[in-house]
Amino acid sequence: MLGYTNLVSELEQLLRSRGYRLTNQRRVIVGELEGARHLSAEELHDRLKCEHPELGLSTVYRTLDLLHELGIVRKEDFGEGYSRYELATERMHHHARCRECGAVIEFNEELMEYLALQVERETGFVTEWHEITLHGRCAACSHS
Ligand SMILES: [Zn+2]
Ligand SMILES: [Zn+2]
Repeated sequence: MLGYTNLVSELEQLLRSRGYRLTNQRRVIVGELEGARHLSAEELHDRLKCEHPELGLSTVYRTLDLLHELGIVRKEDFGEGYSRYELATERMHHHARCRECGAVIEFNEELMEYLALQVERETGFVTEWHEITLHGRCAACSHS
């Protein structure tokens, strides 16, 4: 897992250890994900295309795939038919997504660890990882 400090140099080392260079494109994409989480490839592309017209959508996709393979970004599926991405610097957490406004709320995984323990106690199943998304309506939407 990457730390917040020296993100770029850590990233560069990680890439180099796998035989990749930290190209400008990779740096730009990671930089954008650092500021805003849970972006789709298209949203990323929209945000970057003015300043970096050389960055085509297919490059964004390819770069995200590579960063995902290397464990630098997490890929999330909120049931929208496409993926969203965030840096893997974050402590593992889960998401609740509002189906009305699309807001994504994060919650920590202690509750899920507790749940996994309960399941293990009851069934003997040993959970190795979990990825949970809750679907519903955020506080603002559920009050209107
Ligand atoms: Zn909402
Ligand atoms: Zn998240």
